[in-house]
Formats: sequence, C-alpha cells, structure tokens
Amino acid sequence: MARYLDSKCKLCRREGEKLFLKGEKCFSDKCAIERRNYPPGQHGQKKGRLSDYGVQLREKQKLRRIYGLLEKQFRNLYKKADKHKGITGENLLQMLESRLDNIVFLMGFGASRSEARQIVRHNSILVNGKRVNTPSYLVNPGDLIELDNKSKEHIRIKSSMQSAENRGFPAWIEMDIKGMKGFYKNRPDRSDLPSTINESLVVELYSK
Ligand code: SF4
Repeated sequence: MARYLDSKCKLCRREGEKLFLKGEKCFSDKCAIERRNYPPGQHGQKKGRLSDYGVQLREKQKLRRIYGLLEKQFRNLYKKADKHKGITGENLLQMLESRLDNIVFLMGFGASRSEARQIVRHNSILVNGKRVNTPSYLVNPGDLIELDNKSKEHIRIKSSMQSAENRGFPAWIEMDIKGMKGFYKNRPDRSDLPSTINESLVVELYSK
C-alpha cells in the first residue's frame, strides 16, 4: 500500500490551513501553520491566482489529506456517495466521518487520524463486541466502539483520551471515558462539520 512519507506539516502549508495531522503538536505554537503559513518550496511565497480547476483540485486534496486517504480510496468513496440518495457532497462528508479510523480518532483513542488507523490495524478495536481491523469500515449510528482490554492500559492512549476530553467530544459521539468506549450516536449534520470545507467543489471536480 502506497504511503505519504514526507512532512505532514507541508500538506497543511500547501492548503494554507490546519488539517490537524500531527496530534498534540497541532494545538501548540509549534504548529508550522502558526509559524510559516505559506506553501512549502522555493516559490512558496509567490502569490498566483488559481484557475477554477485549481480551486476544485485544492479543495479535493485538502479533504483527502484531512482524512488521510489515497486518491483511489477517496474516489471510490465518492462513487459510493454519489449512488446514495441525497446530496452527494454531504453524503461524502458523512461517509468520511463514519470511517472507523475517524471515529476512533474522534473518541480520542488516537491523537491523530493516522495514529487511530494504526490502532485499528493492530486489532485493538471492537465494534459491537467484535474485533474490526479495517480502518475504512463504515460505522453505523448506534454502534458501540471500544478498546480491547490490553489496549486500555496503554499510556499513550490514556493520554490522548485525556487531551480529547479536555477539548470536548463532538455532539454525535457519546463517550464513556472510564470504560474507554463510546457510541456513534448519529451521522453528523452538515452544520456540525467545519464550514471551511467546500465539498461542492469536490463534486464539481469529479463531475467533469
Ligand atoms: Fe498541520 Fe498539525 Fe503540522 Fe500544524 S502541526 S501544520 S496543524 S500537521
């Protein structure tokens, strides 16, 4: 499986905003966006106007990078979203939010989505009591997500849960902190998700 191995902060600088790819560092003044908010590379500080296509492409790349998906995975999810009833862009966002690695991140088991993905891959997560190790697994409303007993003892997991608790959990997640488990109550409404994302640009790009 191909993986992105360069600096994750460069991805945020390319998109000109925080994508929260590095856990705690993203909430500190060490964040690269706080220090150098311009695209990386020799010509990073040169300003140019993007074409309509360029704007659509950047928005797609941003969304893909937030959730850490490769192009093929992202496009496949888009195709599924397009087949569902309703607004394609909103379906896509709801599906991205419903991925198991994302839910594990939102519950604070991992400090970032990539760390959450590792936790899932390492067989540490139970969905409704059954082990699931597929990060792309789509969680359904009402599903119970929990850590296995061994992982509950991990200091790193405890510490990222503490940080997540301090920041607050999203309204669509109901957490039992002591039990280190939580319910995915419902799919988020569009208004629950960041207004900095413009999913209709992604739909325009893929509809060409
Ligand atoms: Fe992005 Fe986090 Fe790096 Fe800041 S610290 S640039 S939010 S990955």
